[in-house]
Amino acid sequence: MSEKHTPLSSLGEFGLIDHLTNSFETKQQSTIKGIGDDAAVINHEGMCTVLSTDLLIEGVHFDLSFMPLKHLGYKAVIVNLSDIYAMNASPSQITISLAISNRFSVEALDELYAGIKHACDTYGVDLVGGDTTSSSTGLSISVTAVGAAKKKDLVYRNGAKEGDFICVSGELGGAYIGLQLLNREKEVFLENPKMQPKLDEHKYLVGRQLKPEARKDVIAYLRDFDIHPTAMIDVSDGLSSDLMHLCRQADVGCHVYEANVPINNETYNQALEFNMDPITTALSGGEDYELLFTVSPSDESKLNGQEIDITVIGKIVAKEEGLMLQTRANHLHELVAQGWNSFQK
Ligand code: ADP
Ligand code: MG
Repeated sequence: MSEKHTPLSSLGEFGLIDHLTNSFETKQQSTIKGIGDDAAVINHEGMCTVLSTDLLIEGVHFDLSFMPLKHLGYKAVIVNLSDIYAMNASPSQITISLAISNRFSVEALDELYAGIKHACDTYGVDLVGGDTTSSSTGLSISVTAVGAAKKKDLVYRNGAKEGDFICVSGELGGAYIGLQLLNREKEVFLENPKMQPKLDEHKYLVGRQLKPEARKDVIAYLRDFDIHPTAMIDVSDGLSSDLMHLCRQADVGCHVYEANVPINNETYNQALEFNMDPITTALSGGEDYELLFTVSPSDESKLNGQEIDITVIGKIVAKEEGLMLQTRANHLHELVAQGWNSFQK
């Protein structure tokens, strides 16, 4: 963060909104009217509009003692875009609503908006509005993402069928272990502020927590290879818990093979160092923002030998068989869904 500390009051509400948003240009054809009127206008030309919103509260969802504001801005956008991709839709616009206490300076909000802009540029979405208000406590940020898809392309959570393959993109558990590392360094710092954080050797894990990406590439890949998932969700609460949503909504069970669950070596080793079971970390750690989806057997063959990090981790079975994890030793255990909040002791 820069050294200057210009009070928000020096700009006033309208001056601040203009200051924060004037570098944003609209790129989407569907954006008819962006910032500056009573409402934004979007024309998706007969496509279905997909809409998702999230509210993030300081001290509950983020900790500014280790989350740089630029990363917070980026991540706040990413988690919403991830929800739009999880519908097999393309995000096109976002709005940002802020409640800010006067502890924040203009420069601090510039950092936040630099992260928001970076996400907008990376994912090609337009910032088309928002709201700005004062807060007596910390910072709250709400992002709404809008996207579009053809009706026939939309993928819901409830479409999984017996015999479908369960797939997940990327690697799991890293964001959770990254958070543990950040928390540990914070404790060390609070006890002895002279200690410098030892995070350089953990770039991957810390990056998974502080700078997640939404899997736009997976959606593009599914389209290019004509794969239509039967159900999809993004992994925000943890694999077990999100898979449970898919199974409940479709009235089916699942078999997950422990040996197939993708875990990065760094996640694996660091979990052991924290005395955690790596597979539990991958099943229950949240915030990976990978895509979890099911495909019919005819689509599964299209996944073979492709240059993308999608792993088949199990199968959808009859509801009566339950939700099971098949361990490396071939034992069956019931999958327990601990959302990552309750997982955090
Ligand atoms: P209203 O009085 O209708 O709520 P505002 O004065 O709050 O309008 O906002 C003016 C314009 O600026 C609107 O287009 C609104 O969507 C946009 N806007 C307000 N706050 C933000 C923000 N934090 N980020 C982006 N756009 C914003
Ligand atoms: Mg307003």
